[in-house]
Parts: sequence; structure tokens; C-alpha cells
Amino acid sequence: MPTTKDIIRDSLATLRTPGLDTPLGDGLEWIAECDGFVSLKFHAPALDTPDSRASAARDARDAVAAALASADTPPVRSLIVEFVDHAGTVLQTERLGPGNPKPTNAKPQNAPPPSTKAAPDTRTPTAPTAPPTPNTQSPGHRPIAGLADTAGQPAHTDPLDSIKHIIAVGAGKGGVGKSTIAVNLAVGLARQGHAVGLLDGDIYGPSLPTMLALDALEQSVVAGKLQPHTVHGIKAITIGKLVEPDKPLIWRGPMAHGAFKQLVEQASWGELDYLIIDLPPGTGDVCLTMAQTLKLTGAVLVCTPQRVAQDDAIRAARMFQQLKIDILGVVENMSYFIGDDRKEYDIFGRGGAEIMAQRMGLPFLGALPINIPLRANSDSGNPTANFDPATAGGEALPQALQSLVTTLEGQVALASLRQGKAKPTLSIR
Ligand code: ADP
Repeated sequence: MPTTKDIIRDSLATLRTPGLDTPLGDGLEWIAECDGFVSLKFHAPALDTPDSRASAARDARDAVAAALASADTPPVRSLIVEFVDHAGTVLQTERLGPGNPKPTNAKPQNAPPPSTKAAPDTRTPTAPTAPPTPNTQSPGHRPIAGLADTAGQPAHTDPLDSIKHIIAVGAGKGGVGKSTIAVNLAVGLARQGHAVGLLDGDIYGPSLPTMLALDALEQSVVAGKLQPHTVHGIKAITIGKLVEPDKPLIWRGPMAHGAFKQLVEQASWGELDYLIIDLPPGTGDVCLTMAQTLKLTGAVLVCTPQRVAQDDAIRAARMFQQLKIDILGVVENMSYFIGDDRKEYDIFGRGGAEIMAQRMGLPFLGALPINIPLRANSDSGNPTANFDPATAGGEALPQALQSLVTTLEGQVALASLRQGKAKPTLSIR
């Protein structure tokens, strides 16, 4: 029995659309479907205008809707169609309503032509005069009053001119402590006197609501801009406030692009020395969106010492390199454990991430041990406690964090020189 994906793929396999000599299905790169919410990605270079792509997206919607209506599957409720270039960069995103499909046994190429489309699209980027509307079609995307949905509109280039350094914190896998490092780097930099923002872009598992105790705070919007929360000496915004927490993860990928763009472009960050971005684990959509949208100073890669974590970190490092993002350094988290007997236990094989960094020619920023107060302070949303020996289980954790922060500042200065953002100074006494 064919799966819903098979039915969708078949409906596109023979679909003809203006501007293409071959069926649209030949350029199909990706399908996701869940309860009538469909997401498609095409690479179709011959569709080289916004209008031709918008029209092809509507044709795709009609073909898919007709095919699903004829099969014993949930009807199409909404459809996101992305067009990408050869490098996977999103050229255009179309978000479409269900249309008006008639169950039919006709082949997909007999689907109604574009001019007979019955249902209006919820929004397309080719209708710039339409007032911005909250994105109510994207499943799991929680609309916020007063905030426009810019998901399908072209990416701005570098909308954050008032921010000196944008640093992404990434990891090859989840659970290695990426968010913990992002939060503590942000708070540590703020304790050095810098103005710091922290953007939680981990759409698969936003941690900032817990780690910064943001859960009870409402996301406020003033003059159409998200207002960051000011907590623990930093400004912070989390993608967790833009997505419904209980929606299936399959939807988070397609939503990621739009939600991340909103966080970046529609937040009033003001003047900052550093904006730290907590990325989702792995090498997915958000990293691409970020590379398209922002000029980063560089990325920090968090890794635990085990071989499997290193392998994933190497893949993440290669992704940053392909996206031409400088890697500012590797942090080895959960490097070892100090027992009650004060002995150090190398549970995961201490030094593994450092060796990986050396092999790849990347700077090493430092190692953090497995530390119970660090976990407890994260769970209770109080990261500043990690910098005080009285609440950090002694001197070791504050010192290790301080050293990470100082080494990162050094790497940022070097990267700025390489990128021509700063000029070297010579002082003569
Ligand atoms: P990721 O962002 O990579 O998914 P998190 O930062 O959310 O990982 O960390 C996962 C869990 O591990 C959290 O409960 C966090 O408090 C804990 N944790 C992270 N690093 C350490 C550490 N060095 N010592 C103790 N617990 C840690």
C-alpha cells in the first residue's frame, strides 16, 4: 500500500507547470507530511522568477490536494513549498491554504490550471502590498500579537548593524551541553562589562526558558518588534515563545527558517557588543538561514570527548567551513568528573575533543568538567550562580568559565583582524 509520501511524490512526478520543460516532480528534493500539513522542497533552476515559482507552488498544491482527496488520507490543510538553489539556499517560500480539491481519479497533470485556483493563498511573497498577517497556517507556529510574519519574504542582509560580534554556538549532537555553554558564555561576557544578547534558536529543544527562568515571562512586542527579556545581565529571546511546545518535531524543520528570521529581524536588540546564538544541534535549516541572513564573527563548537560526539562535531565543523563561517574554537564539555573523593574520573575519555580540534586545525577554547552545581543552576534558571564559588561548588567552575570567556574574547579579536573589522594597534611606552 502506498504511503502518503508516495502519493504526493506520484502526484508531482508528471505535473507540468509553465516555465519547465520537464515535470515539476523531477526537481523534488524533500517531502514531509503530517495530518494534512505538507512541506515540499524543489530545486528547479528554470523557474527563475518569483511569479513562476509562486505559480508552480500553486500547481503543486492542487496536484497534491487532488491526489490526497482521492486517496484514503487526510486532506491537505496547508502546504509550504520551498524553492532552493543548487547549494540548498532557500530562494522562495510559498505558504498555501488547502485550495478547493475535488476528489478525482484523474491523473495529476489534469489538475486544474493555475488560473482556476479557488482558495486564496494565505500569503505569498509576491504580494508585497498585502498587510502583514500573523502566520496562522504554519502548524505549531504560535502567532504573537503585533508581530508580522516575514517567513516567506526575502532574507535581509545583515539586519543587525548595531551588533559588533555575532557568535553562533553549535554542536554536532544534542545533549552535549551546547545551550549550557551558550548561556554561560553570554553571562560571562556580560560580567566582563560587555553588552550581550542571547538568542535561543534551538527549535528542536529550546532550553533558554528553563536555563534563564523565562517561562513565566510573556513575550512582549512594541511597535512590531519583539522585546528581549533582560535577565542575569543579558538580553535574551527564545524561539520557544514562537512555537507550540507539543507539536511534532517533523514540523519544526519547515518552521525553523521563518521563526529564526523573525527572531533575528524583528527583535529590538539595540546596541550590543556580542550576540550569542544557540543553534539547534546538527547541520540543518537554521544554520543555512543564519548564514544567509547574518554576518557572523564566527562559531563556537561544543563537543563531549567521546568518539561518536567527535564524529558529529567534525561534520558540524565542515558545515561551518562550507558556509564560510570562521570557527572561533572548540569547547570540550563534560570532559571529566570530580568525585567526592576529589579524584578526577575520565568518564568519556578526557581530551578527545581537544585532539579533534588539533587535528582539524581549530583553536581549543577549554574544557568544562561534569559539574553538579552547573546542572542544578541550569535547571533552576540561575546561571549567575555558576560564577560564584559559594554557589558553584568551589573555585573550579567559575575559573573554568572565566577562562573560556577570556579565550573566546581573544579568538574574537583575532577573527575580527582576519575579517578586517579591527585594525591592529601598537603601543609604545
Ligand atoms: P544541548 O544544548 O547540547 O542539548 P544542554 O546544554 O541542554 O545540551 O545540556 C543537557 C543537560 O546536561 C542539561 O541538563 C545541562 O544542565 C546538563 N549539562 C551540560 N553540561 C554539563 C556539565 N558540564 N556538567 C553537568 N551537567 C551538564
